[in-house]
Amino acid sequence: MRIYLPEIKRSKGEAVDLSFRGSFHDFFGRDEYPAGGSIEVIVSACAESDKVIVRGSMQASLDIECSRCLRLFRQEMHTEFHEAFLIVSGSADDEDPDLLATAAANELEVRGNYLYLKEFLRQVFILDQEYSPLCRPDCRGLCKDCGTDLNSGICDCRLDSQVDLRLIKLKELIR
Ligand SMILES: [Zn+2]
Ligand SMILES: [Zn+2]
Repeated sequence: MRIYLPEIKRSKGEAVDLSFRGSFHDFFGRDEYPAGGSIEVIVSACAESDKVIVRGSMQASLDIECSRCLRLFRQEMHTEFHEAFLIVSGSADDEDPDLLATAAANELEVRGNYLYLKEFLRQVFILDQEYSPLCRPDCRGLCKDCGTDLNSGICDCRLDSQVDLRLIKLKELIR
């Protein structure tokens, strides 16, 4: 996704809208996201003196791994963003779009005719993601001894330790 600067300069403060709807692979062009899932991005950009003001929203639906039980579950997210990119002089027409996208995201600067938003939007997405996603708030996770998914039942080691606990309590009672 990129914004053509001459167009937004020409429209004098009037916003230029862009949108994308499709898969993560198509949008980010990377293999780090599992197949499937969808993302919708709506961007509105306008020129304001020496800056490009970008605002918009991102809506995504993606299968991610639960941090406790490692099962895939569908996560929905919705976030909004608002950023100003400083227009710096110099041509960039022969530069790699990926490098320009990284510069835009990290320095909030734009050089040349295009503002490449891919990396910026990738960071928006990552920042909005939970650090430890859970398939449900009370996910029981995996047994640390045998790896059984404790959401689907109790494993033998848990039964053993429960029996042990009961025996200990019984001993305490007898004493
Ligand atoms: Zn889980
Ligand atoms: Zn176990």
